Amino acid sequence: MARSPLLTTDTGEGFSIDTIPFGFGEAGGKQAAALSALGDQVVQLESLATQGFLPGFEESIKMCSSYGGLNPLLKLGRDRLGELRLLLQDLLQVGSELDKDRTMLANIVHPIDDSNLHLPVYIGDYTDFYASKYHAERVGAMFRGKEQALQPNWRHLPVGYHGRSSSIVGSNRIINWPSGQVKGENGPVFQASEKVDFELEFGCITASGNSLGEPLSAEQTGDLIGGYVLVNDWSARDIQAWEYVPLGPFTSKNFATSVSPWIIHPDALEPFRVEGASPEVPLQTYLQQTGITHYDIKLEVWLKPAGLDEKVKICTSNTSHLYWTMEQMLAHQTVTGCNIRPGDLYASGTVSGPAPESRACMLEITENGSTPLKLPGGKLRSFLEPGDQIIMKGYAEKGDLRVDFGEVRGQIGE
Ligand code: MN
Repeated sequence: MARSPLLTTDTGEGFSIDTIPFGFGEAGGKQAAALSALGDQVVQLESLATQGFLPGFEESIKMCSSYGGLNPLLKLGRDRLGELRLLLQDLLQVGSELDKDRTMLANIVHPIDDSNLHLPVYIGDYTDFYASKYHAERVGAMFRGKEQALQPNWRHLPVGYHGRSSSIVGSNRIINWPSGQVKGENGPVFQASEKVDFELEFGCITASGNSLGEPLSAEQTGDLIGGYVLVNDWSARDIQAWEYVPLGPFTSKNFATSVSPWIIHPDALEPFRVEGASPEVPLQTYLQQTGITHYDIKLEVWLKPAGLDEKVKICTSNTSHLYWTMEQMLAHQTVTGCNIRPGDLYASGTVSGPAPESRACMLEITENGSTPLKLPGGKLRSFLEPGDQIIMKGYAEKGDLRVDFGEVRGQIGE
């Protein structure tokens, strides 16, 4: 049944009634609190709850303000979050109780552009995977040659590393330019990185977890997911190339990771399920999954070069290009008994696809700097330069349905 939203924009853009995202931040001159969004407006959940519109959720929504993030709400679990989404979806359409109380409505909605959106949750642990075969093959070929592009383990398990939660930031932040050790002709040199890069990634935030010592299978881990976000895993390729052997990325990744301000509930994405890559080798039981396992979510990266007013689209990709699913990544996270907790972040790794325009980091786009991007006005980019802004967007579309992720924006500083 077609839904008629209470708030629309002239352009029809912004958050649809099918999205109902969850976020956290300051809006309408109030202290930071739990938010949702419709059209180009944020919706104050705490005010709605106080007025009795969200029965059963008052306490958790209120606790978000003192906690400084959506964690108390997330801890209700995936199913309860789904119920809250449906409740809001009913309230935010024509003919609802809220529609009859226009004074109330005017008090709880504020333009997104006037709001200060924070990181949506306080993130406990963070793991970054390497789940696109296209990315792994292109990067592997660059560093080890075509024959050994994929390591022997890659098709058997979702490769990942434990990231750093202390340097995860929200949208619209300036990222410090990293310095470190890079390989020189006569040994290592300490210098400002000359290969600062972005990585377009898809992430999930967990709403519940498993007990220490109790691994979960890929058929079980979907229940843990509270929602999905966009992630920019900023990287320093020259530092990475020197430091990554033999334990994987470290300081080349831990200087910053940007996360989008809005969490999209898995129920909103169910209509966008698609068949993905079939496993190329028989999988261990804990990684096996039945049903339609992937999502058709369109992803874009835009570069707003320092000193230029226009932004340029430099990547068009899709989450359906991922080889491993988030459920498989979470299952592998727990295989030896490691516990997942509510408020953890799991990111997919660079979501590159087969086509040239779907290469989702500068390392791939410019083939490690050897074929620079040509920008308007004749400027060239091998990697990022000080002042460059990276804007990542995500959305899913099917018939009249549209679910929007909004964007995550970050500017690399001096
Ligand atoms: Mn990454």
